[in-house]
Amino acid sequence: MSKTSQWIAKEAKVCAHNYFPLPVVLTRGKGEWVWDIQQKRYLDMMSAYSAVSLGHCHPRLLKALSEQAHQLAVVSRAFHTDKLYPLVEKLCRLTGMDMGLPMNSGAEAVETALKAVRRFGYEKKGIPDNQAQIIVSKNNFHGRTISVISFSSDKSYQQHFGPLTPGFIEIPFGDAQALKSAINPNTCAFLVEAIQGEAGIILPPKGWLKECEKICRENKVLLIVDEIQTGLARTGKMFAFEHENVKPDGVILGKALGGGILPISMFLARKEVMEVFNPGSHGSTFGGNPLACHIGLEVLSIIEEEKLVQKSAKLGDRLLEGLKSINHPIIKEVRGKGLFVGVEIDTNVVSARKVCEKLMELGVLSKETHETTIRFAPPLIIHEEALDFAITEFEVALNAF
Ligand SMILES: *Cc1c(COP(=O)(O)O)cnc(C)c1O
Repeated sequence: MSKTSQWIAKEAKVCAHNYFPLPVVLTRGKGEWVWDIQQKRYLDMMSAYSAVSLGHCHPRLLKALSEQAHQLAVVSRAFHTDKLYPLVEKLCRLTGMDMGLPMNSGAEAVETALKAVRRFGYEKKGIPDNQAQIIVSKNNFHGRTISVISFSSDKSYQQHFGPLTPGFIEIPFGDAQALKSAINPNTCAFLVEAIQGEAGIILPPKGWLKECEKICRENKVLLIVDEIQTGLARTGKMFAFEHENVKPDGVILGKALGGGILPISMFLARKEVMEVFNPGSHGSTFGGNPLACHIGLEVLSIIEEEKLVQKSAKLGDRLLEGLKSINHPIIKEVRGKGLFVGVEIDTNVVSARKVCEKLMELGVLSKETHETTIRFAPPLIIHEEALDFAITEFEVALNAF
């Protein structure tokens, strides 16, 4: 038994089986590269679902981490610190929002948004108590808490986790007319991903989000955009909603905000929405801790100074073109924006999982989503040669089937 399989067998004995990882045991990372326990090198084309957008162990983040860890790390929100407002202020400026509420994981920030829009519905829109409805899209992904899975379309996310949370209405993704029809006087918000990530990198029709913005505004329904995976330069814009020049009422961030080092998430919103929170109505022990805030602020500086928005757009085009030029019969579609690309394959020939396993052998790490799509979302700092290596090896992998 190899060292790797021994390690995996040991893990399987004590760790819950709530994931199905590729059979590789990683131990070290630098930039867009990672190494396994047998010192084999791989190109990371996953970036931990965009959490590692700045690459592994970015030297500036390590410096910021060490400095702040020696200064002050966690005090809880029982006290003020000098690190929270600089981050929130900067995020407000970037998103066009007025105020922010820090949490840790993405799902927590989504929960925060759900609480905010429900309260807004009762206190500012006059919805009768406990009647608020939130509209969501089919095949959405917003996290794994009980309330969030309550409006998932994926039944495996829900099975035997009931009773589920009521108050959610599902409409098809990318269908503005369906949004209009679903709205009633009890609708408080429309929660949506500007580009669906976990569903398989699904791009909506052009003009759709803009149309949704108009419909929401006319009906005093809050437009809340989940940018946890698409935000912070992933899709070639700072935020995916900028592709359509939309001004949402709330924006949810997570993943990349922590620089791939720490969990930090944030719900940002217009003042009118955020002011529904008062002391005692919501909280998180680690939310807004100075260590995570300091990293978050450094992440934003790095994105600006290393011009990662432009880089994501430019390299994204190169990736998209490169994958499209492969022209292999197994490929059904290549789609994406910026360094956020999905390749849908013909699962009659081979499963996406098998392709990912083959890619792993060839030194490229990626992961399938929904059995049919292979995701390519490398760190935004990736070098052109590395990107070209991924494209070449993908063709080699496909030719194996
Ligand atoms: C990953 C993700 C979440 C959940 O974030 P966690 O940190 O895993 O809780 C929510 N929404 C979107 C769009 C995501 O991609």
